[in-house]
Amino acid sequence: MRIVFIGPPGAGKGTQSLRLAEHLNVPPLSTGAMLRDATAKGSELGIESAKFMKQGQLVPDHLVEQILFQRLSEPDCAEGCIIDGFPRTVPQAEALDDWLAERQSPLEIVLELYVPFEELHRRLAGRGRADDSQEIVLKRLRAYDDLTRPLLDYYQGRSKLHRIDGLGSPDEVFERMLAAIKSVKPKQS
Ligand code: AMP
Repeated sequence: MRIVFIGPPGAGKGTQSLRLAEHLNVPPLSTGAMLRDATAKGSELGIESAKFMKQGQLVPDHLVEQILFQRLSEPDCAEGCIIDGFPRTVPQAEALDDWLAERQSPLEIVLELYVPFEELHRRLAGRGRADDSQEIVLKRLRAYDDLTRPLLDYYQGRSKLHRIDGLGSPDEVFERMLAAIKSVKPKQS
C-alpha cells in the first residue's frame, strides 16, 4: 500500500509512520529524515537544503523531489511505502501523482493527523531539535498553515483523505489509523 501522511510538525507523524510501516511491512520514507541525512553527509543537495531547514522554511521542490523520487525508485518501494513529510505543497502533490501515475502505482490513502494548534505548540517547544526554537517552531507551523493545508482540499477532491484524531495515546492513534486503512482496503482488491 502506498500511504501519505499529512500533519503539522509535532502531530506525531514520524512515530506513527514508522510503526505503520513496520505493521504493513513496507519502508517508511521521511523527506525530513532524508534531507537531514544528506546534510549530515555533506552532499551538495544536503548543504543547499540545510539553508532552508535551519530557517524553518520549506526546501525548494526540485531538491525534495529529487531525493524522494530517487528513493521511491528503489526496489523495496515496489509493493508500497509510507511517505511522511511529502507532499507539503499542491505542486509537490501533483508531481507525486504524475510520478506514480507513470508507474501505474497510485496512492491508496492519505492520512491527515489532526492535532489542535495549542497542543502542537506545547509538544514542539519540548522537542529540542536544532530547528525547534520557539521562533522557528512558529514559522514551521505557519508554513504548514499557508502551504500544506491546501493539500487537504486537493486530496479530499480525489476522495483519498482520511482525517485521524491525533490526540490520545500513541496506541489509540495507531488503532484509528488502522481502522481508516481497513476502510479503504476492500476497494483495492
Ligand atoms: P520534517 O522532519 O518533516 O519536520 O522536515 C524538516 C524540514 O525539512 C522541514 O521544516 C523542511 O525544511 C524540510 N522538508 C521536509 N520535507 C519537505 C518537503 N516535502 N518540502 C519542502 N521541505 C521539506
